[in-house]
Amino acid sequence: MAEEKCAAAKKCGGCQYQGIPYKKQLEKKQQYLEKLLKNYGKILPIIGMENPYYYRNKVHAAFDRDRKGNVIAGIYEANSHHVVPVEKCLIEDEKSQEIIRTIRDLAKSFRIKIYDEDTGYGLLRHVLVRRGFQSGQILVVLVLSSPILPSKNNFVKALRQIHPEITTIVLNVNDRHTSMVLGEREIPLYGPGYIKDTLCGCTFRISPKSFYQVNPVQTEILYQTAIRFADLKGTETVIDAYCGIGTIGLVAAKDAGRVIGVELNRDAVRDARVNAKENGIRNADFFQGDAGDFMVSMAQKGEKAEVVFMDPPRGGSDKKFLSSAVKLSPKKIVYISCNPETLARDLKYLTGHGYRMEKAQGVDMFPFADDVETVCLLSSRK
Ligand code: SAH
Repeated sequence: MAEEKCAAAKKCGGCQYQGIPYKKQLEKKQQYLEKLLKNYGKILPIIGMENPYYYRNKVHAAFDRDRKGNVIAGIYEANSHHVVPVEKCLIEDEKSQEIIRTIRDLAKSFRIKIYDEDTGYGLLRHVLVRRGFQSGQILVVLVLSSPILPSKNNFVKALRQIHPEITTIVLNVNDRHTSMVLGEREIPLYGPGYIKDTLCGCTFRISPKSFYQVNPVQTEILYQTAIRFADLKGTETVIDAYCGIGTIGLVAAKDAGRVIGVELNRDAVRDARVNAKENGIRNADFFQGDAGDFMVSMAQKGEKAEVVFMDPPRGGSDKKFLSSAVKLSPKKIVYISCNPETLARDLKYLTGHGYRMEKAQGVDMFPFADDVETVCLLSSRK
């Protein structure tokens, strides 16, 4: 595989491993995992990608103006809110990048004011594009500082004329002085307001604010690894904690007795319930709330679960969750982590409270970035 070179590598804060051959990147990630986790158990060799380019199904562009006043779309410089114009990114989906370039050019011809973070004036803040790699469906989210987009219908029409492949367009209102990309309010401008995509044979509806893994090729490997580690026999009660739109639990449901998912984000829970129904899965229920609180209440009620999948955000889990998980005393905990540091911290707790780490498997979800995804199997010593 030929190495490609990124023109924005020096400035853009997106990739830390630009210029490092892919094989070397994988070695670095493996060493990092071994350093942090080797005291707990066996670390299998990280699974890399055959083709580590253009893998991101979600592309986020921040908008700004350059010194000459031209509209630019790009990525923030590391640790700043200075937008580095990116003409071509090597890890983002190419079609989505094309759409962002079109929106940048349309913003100029439609005279859409670009939001200025310092003064709070202007309209267009960000554009988010998500493409279902299997379904081909494309979601475009225009993040504006106000619900009113002048010449809205003509803008949508012009965009769709150039990109008939876009299946839905949503206006997201973010009128706050914040570094969060998305605001609360959403106004569908075209199509159903979500896309669908397929992973591991199940179809998932994905709303703009719901989490969806950004590297679908590796996600299938990640989920298959997690489910293989769980080694389900068809009768178990399985918890899918931090379940997002229900992906892991729904893929596992055919091998389980019952699946219980818990997730904080309301839109994601709504997606998860629809996803269960649309895939004809009847043994899965999804609850909205904090995963820790949910586990506490399960433990208090004396409920049982044989397997717990947990896939928390970067910050990892918390004492509330972990102590109740231990009380529920599942035979297996399959921990899916996007941050080895917090994984190591949580492993310390679990291995100190009756669990043993059997093995950990790195799956490279983020070529060229320094993030590391890991699936970890813990089993009860009892
Ligand atoms: N397992 C899913 C989602 C993983 S991302 C997938 O593979 O797609 C982590 C998820 O945890 C996000 O959906 C986020 O909304 C959710 N989350 C964050 N904090 C949470 C909490 N305290 N309780 C429950 N869910 C939480």
